[in-house]
Amino acid sequence: MEFQLSPEDEAFRQELRQFLREEVPPEKTGGMSSMNEGDENGGDAFAMAMRKKLAQRGWLTMGWPKEYGGQDASPMRQTIFMEEMAYWDAPGMDLMGVGIVGPTIMRVGSDAQKRQHLHAIAKGEVIWSQGFSEPGAGSDLAGLQTRADLKGDVFVVNGQKIWSSGAHRADYMYLMARTDQDVPKHKGISALLVDLKSTKQGLEIRPIINMAGMKGFNEVFFDNMEVPRENLLGELNQGWYYSMGLLESERTAFINFSAIGRSVIEGLTRLVNDPDARGIASGKRPETRAKLADATIENKVARNLALTVTWMTGKGIRPTYQASVAKVFGTEAFKRLAWSAMSIVGLYGQVERQKQYAPLMGRVNSIYYTSVGMTIAGGASEIQRNVIATRGLGLPR
Ligand SMILES: Cc1cc2nc3c(=O)[nH]c(=O)nc-3n(C[C@H](O)[C@H](O)[C@H](O)COP(=O)(O)OP(=O)(O)OC[C@H]3O[C@@H](n4cnc5c(N)ncnc54)[C@H](O)[C@@H]3O)c2cc1C
Repeated sequence: MEFQLSPEDEAFRQELRQFLREEVPPEKTGGMSSMNEGDENGGDAFAMAMRKKLAQRGWLTMGWPKEYGGQDASPMRQTIFMEEMAYWDAPGMDLMGVGIVGPTIMRVGSDAQKRQHLHAIAKGEVIWSQGFSEPGAGSDLAGLQTRADLKGDVFVVNGQKIWSSGAHRADYMYLMARTDQDVPKHKGISALLVDLKSTKQGLEIRPIINMAGMKGFNEVFFDNMEVPRENLLGELNQGWYYSMGLLESERTAFINFSAIGRSVIEGLTRLVNDPDARGIASGKRPETRAKLADATIENKVARNLALTVTWMTGKGIRPTYQASVAKVFGTEAFKRLAWSAMSIVGLYGQVERQKQYAPLMGRVNSIYYTSVGMTIAGGASEIQRNVIATRGLGLPR
């Protein structure tokens, strides 16, 4: 199968490439991590500036309806955008606000919430985080224990979240909390929009340093934190059903794994052919050739699986299990590529991003660490395999 782009889509890809060539010098790459490190003023300054530039061109929220600052762009156009951004390792993306929070507010938010949040996201002005997982509730998210008790005009929140990406930089959190203790677990959960910056009491955010040595995740503690009643998203006790819909909007991001992978394979191919490259396995060695050939095969399969999901979404067909196929294969192939890349660049692979002698601007080092979490985030591989077995093959639950 070959996915053919329309002349308009192809022209868009070329325009975006030109923009990225001009705007993102190699030393400013690092799209996957740049929002979490950097200055203390609400995220890395370059990444936030990039986000605003993307917003000014209408690209940041291109898939949104025009009334909310979008362009009604097709899933294919959004996929092209994701693919180029990931290939260039360009900072500025906003998967949380644009891909998850915004679409849910559009669907079930009040008029006041739409006014307050949607244009701010579309202009690239705010950072959102997601407060779903807890120490005892990850795959089994419906088992979450953080509670929000409605007392007069406020919800009083107590409990703990964990792995909240970017919460230490975020302005807001999309929080899932239990609002009814006496009903089956899926039926007692609500979604709250929490203003992290203006909450002064009962909130503690503790960054977790990840294995790459960076601040990425957080533990977030709530001790009688008050959230105004009007910050309830949609209806009371319906939060579970909203969150299930929103995970679908992450699908166009599956292309990221093959896009990053392709750029790494191209970079490695240059390196193994460069007689002056330090400590790099030669492209003449059979095992180097085999590793790069295998990576290329997997990369093409991963891209086709991701594009199949895009194509189905564009046709209005729900990729009930195909999205899981693309996620499992894309992320697991990405992990295998990271291992191969590390073995090809040898000890130099341990040189961190932006340091002299770091091969491919440190991208090998960064994917080696970040690829590990990708098979867990957004539904672990085992859970995806369960989906493929039950929804895809009809096996019993
Ligand atoms: C990079 C990254 C970013 C993240 N960002 C966020 C964020 O911003 N906000 C947030 O709320 N969370 C975030 N998470 C957390 C993520 O959603 C959870 O880690 C994930 O849902 C798995 O939950 P868990 O870690 O509790 O593992 P568990 O659910 O305890 O699972 C442990 C192991 O058991 C397996 N397992 C569990 N249940 C089953 C089953 N029924 N059948 C077979 N195997 C099973 C799992 O696959 C896994 O291998 C992030 C995680 C990562 C890695």
